[in-house]
Amino acid sequence: MRHPVRLSVLSWLLAPILIAGPLTVAPAQADPGQAPPRLRIGITGLKSASDNLHKLDTYRNALLKAGAEPIPLYYGSPVLAADIDGILFAGGEDVNPALYGEKPDPTVAINGPRDDSEMAQAESALEQGIPILGICRGSQLLNVRLGGSLVQDIPSQVPGALPHQAGNLHQITLTPGTQLAETVGLTTMRVNSYHHQSVKTLAKGLRLTAVSDDGIIEGWEAIPGGPIHSPVSGVQFHPEKPDFPMPSISQRIFARFLLSAQYFAAQKSARVRVK
Ligand code: MN
Repeated sequence: MRHPVRLSVLSWLLAPILIAGPLTVAPAQADPGQAPPRLRIGITGLKSASDNLHKLDTYRNALLKAGAEPIPLYYGSPVLAADIDGILFAGGEDVNPALYGEKPDPTVAINGPRDDSEMAQAESALEQGIPILGICRGSQLLNVRLGGSLVQDIPSQVPGALPHQAGNLHQITLTPGTQLAETVGLTTMRVNSYHHQSVKTLAKGLRLTAVSDDGIIEGWEAIPGGPIHSPVSGVQFHPEKPDFPMPSISQRIFARFLLSAQYFAAQKSARVRVK
């Protein structure tokens, strides 16, 4: 691993060029005459192999449609699964406010074992430079892991907030020049909303990519060339759900994530060949 930072920056810079054409993910390293290996993307959220796999159906379907192989990462297991090319931190329970130094609001419902496992998985993935996409709780957890904080209950703590729960649709404004804005190709769009919490203070090294009209943070990403060397980003909305208003935008978001995973897989494979 001689120049991980430079390569990582290169991948960010190339991304807008690479996604200008049709978004397809080529094999990281295809052997002639063999089917290309599919990118292996871990998904958090299940406790164990006996947990209900259908809980992850929307995430699995979005990744399958984008050409990846979804791999459940159980929070009952202490270590990260091997040979993962990317991780999707899924939606779910509230993150324990103690993890960002606050006492819990009465509305907060936590899952301690899941928090512990996902914080460790996030740390491991960040150390290895594994591409990460956080959705809803996943976005919140990653921001907390990186040093940020959360709004514990939007309805009671943000005066004048729009309804953000129960699948309500609302508009977001994208930050020009960010990877999310370039991926989406729009300045505003309507998104689905299933959350009563949100990012409050963004962690150092992250930048805002999307905000709703009432000021709620709806997306962020690591600043290219900044202190966080992993391609990590989060969205508060749910591009994986069937009610996401624009399926073509959803596909672009997942394709962009897989492009990072493909780049990571190619780097990993190059390192193995050097050994
Ligand atoms: Mn929302």
